Amino acid sequence: MADSRQTLAEYGKKRDFRATPEPKSGSGAKTDTTFVIQKHDASQLHYDFRLSVDGVLKSWSVPKGPSLNPGEKRLAIETEDHPLDYAEFEGAIPEEQYGGGTVIVWDTGGYQHQPSDDKPEQSVAEALDGGDVRLWLEGEKLKGGFALVRMNEKKGEWLLIKAKDEHANRQRNLLSAEPQSVLSGKTNDDMENG
Ligand code: MN
Repeated sequence: MADSRQTLAEYGKKRDFRATPEPKSGSGAKTDTTFVIQKHDASQLHYDFRLSVDGVLKSWSVPKGPSLNPGEKRLAIETEDHPLDYAEFEGAIPEEQYGGGTVIVWDTGGYQHQPSDDKPEQSVAEALDGGDVRLWLEGEKLKGGFALVRMNEKKGEWLLIKAKDEHANRQRNLLSAEPQSVLSGKTNDDMENG
């Protein structure tokens, strides 16, 4: 596993920290089992799914956001690793900057890796390398099993899929029912207006 300074190079290169309120780099102080989903109202609205692994936030952009319905597989496109501090970032990135637009923490909480029965010792990092990760999320909104399954390594395309468990729900649309931040209670529009 590459060290976090190395994997955060791309994150740093894309941003002008004199102009964006986003964090520069992680302190690495937090526990290694956090997930966060940030609703990012950029040129294209999307949800950024991030998972703390070995001192960085592994990151995917999910255009349609997560679903509680196991039948709705959501495309998740790999993006650059983010610093751990980013997990608590909310704010407005200036329009002309990379990722310009508002960001809220739509959901966050702990996660547990659920390795498959035939590979009980496998780490999350190893599962990610293998392109098949089973997680148990303990967010405020998202709970229960989720799978991240790689479809196309070259394009960095994965699917985010709700497992069939007691937290699955085929009716409830969490994205429209609960659009607000779990940290501040704000919506993206609130964030834009101050
Ligand atoms: Mn984003």
